[in-house]
Amino acid sequence: MQRTLIIFKPDTVQRRLVGQILQRFESKGLRIAALKLLQVDRPLGEKHYAEHQGKPFFEGLIDFITGGPVVVGVLEGNEAITVVRSMLGATNGAAAAPGTVRGDFSISKQNNLIHGSDSPESALREIALWFRPEEVVDYTIDGSQWVFGGA
Ligand code: GDP
Ligand code: MG
Repeated sequence: MQRTLIIFKPDTVQRRLVGQILQRFESKGLRIAALKLLQVDRPLGEKHYAEHQGKPFFEGLIDFITGGPVVVGVLEGNEAITVVRSMLGATNGAAAAPGTVRGDFSISKQNNLIHGSDSPESALREIALWFRPEEVVDYTIDGSQWVFGGA
């Protein structure tokens, strides 16, 4: 079982798409291990996107991620990191395949709705950045063997 960090970026909240997109992750079989809404400040945004510091889109990206509240969560399931990334689709919404979150709801390079951790190392770093340990909750969903069995 693997954990990954997701962020419903400010465009998702403003466009009232949080519920619809969260539904996709739940329907897939991923379990919500943590979830909260918050206003991101620049230091947190810069830490989260540290790998992009110095790129031409960096300042705009920090303006964007701090431009309104986000919903941030931890999802858990078999191969959760890869599963979420494949459900998100390509970074550029205009190029993302139909059927993916970005392919269905985004037509922008920057305003692409959802962040998902890209590797086990990123997931560990990002979960620790956004959540205190006690905010990530361990519990079992009744009947989860029907979803996770045979992985
Ligand atoms: P991701 O892992 O698919 O989210 O993409 P990256 O890690 O490459 O980039 C982080 C975020 O920066 C993306 O999700 C976009 O919001 C934004 N971004 C990436 N590339 C570009 C770009 O070429 N132009 C702009 N304006 N934003 C970008
Ligand atoms: Mg990335």
